[in-house]
Amino acid sequence: MEKIGMKTPLVEMDGDEMTRVLWELVKKNLILPFVDLKTEYYDLCVQNRDATCDAVTVEAARAILRHRVGVKCATITTNAERKKEYGLKSIFPSPNATIRGILDGTVFRKPITARNIKPSVITWERPIVIGRHAYGDIYRNAEMSVDAPGKVELVYTGNDGSERRVLVADMKEGGVVQGVHNYDASIRSFARSCFRYALDEALPVMFAAKDTISQVYDARFRDIFSHVYETEYKAEFAEKKIDYMYALIDDAVARVVKSAGGFLWACKNYDGDVMSDMIASATGSLAMMTSVLLSPDGCYEYEAAHGTVRKHYCRYRNGEKPGTNPIALIFAWAGALEKRAELDGIPELAEFARQLQAAALQTIEGGLMTGDLAALLPSGATPLNSWDFIDEVALRLARFRQV
Ligand code: NAP
Ligand code: MG
Repeated sequence: MEKIGMKTPLVEMDGDEMTRVLWELVKKNLILPFVDLKTEYYDLCVQNRDATCDAVTVEAARAILRHRVGVKCATITTNAERKKEYGLKSIFPSPNATIRGILDGTVFRKPITARNIKPSVITWERPIVIGRHAYGDIYRNAEMSVDAPGKVELVYTGNDGSERRVLVADMKEGGVVQGVHNYDASIRSFARSCFRYALDEALPVMFAAKDTISQVYDARFRDIFSHVYETEYKAEFAEKKIDYMYALIDDAVARVVKSAGGFLWACKNYDGDVMSDMIASATGSLAMMTSVLLSPDGCYEYEAAHGTVRKHYCRYRNGEKPGTNPIALIFAWAGALEKRAELDGIPELAEFARQLQAAALQTIEGGLMTGDLAALLPSGATPLNSWDFIDEVALRLARFRQV
């Protein structure tokens, strides 16, 4: 069979550790045999980010702005420990934060459901999608530690020279301080991306924050959401018979756990980070989650929601073949290829992307899976290592391609 052609390249961002190993495997076994793959490749491994003083991350993000679709492997966020481990010159911000900062927008995380994997929360019948604001708050913070008494203030100096001050704390002893920010425009585009996504998927929306405590910061998010909904989306929501509500974050958590699912939960940056891992784990595994960043001007970045799976990588380096679940990486590639196909008008490529997803799910539903999922089956299953699992997916994919 002839390979499927592409027009515009995908922005491909390679990563670190176990996910880097799987990235290569997924490409080699599941994509290259079927697609004449065109990518613009950026190596975001920790060593290359260090060697380029992180310029490679910025270039990759700019490439997404140009080509509109990217696919990213998981990457190490450097810290003092990782700096020592990899002999790095410096510590750079998380590549995800850098890319999200450049693209702005919202990350949507949706559980991947297989018929034989039941969520831990028995009332959940439909996926709960998290819409995570991708800009600001603690991910763009300024923080410091102080080791002696003193006054901490927030100072705003306007370009016209005007000044406003708010006392943060009259520190009686050493401690820690942080300042965070967000922009009205970013919050507005976050709200619009959520409402747009919800309309496309016909899902009701709940936005949750802590406006009772944070009466300026979180209240601004609440007000912008409400304004955008009332003025731009309410009528379309009514037509689709879906609605929007604001809830306090603690009330929202209680509702989520008792719900049947089937809605979009819009979360501030940190809440979305934490809650998406909770939803993914409760639905089965961190690897059973898709993640896509949607920018306000229509750029898409697909990635896995989990990290580089360091523990498995250590075992791999010691000669083992771990059973790291590649589903999130497979779905990231499939999502990116399908979006590229849609933008470039290549129906065969879109069909291939759907077949890739179907082959992966069929493998799991046929009882063949990695250990994270096998442990969830009441009757148990013999766990496969990543290599054997990917071979099984390739087998099923080849069958789809032959008919
Ligand atoms: P992690 O990679 O998410 O893995 C944590 C644990 O979750 C694993 O040890 C494993 O549990 C389980 N797990 C995660 N993904 C799995 C998969 N695909 N298949 C099977 N099990 C899976 O987090 P980490 O190991 O703590 O972090 C490693 C690095 O990832 C860090 O340097 C962090 O900065 C980075 N990170 C990157 C991203 C990103 O690029 N998007 C996101 C988060 C973290 P068991 O060991 O019990 O099997
Ligand atoms: Mg996280």
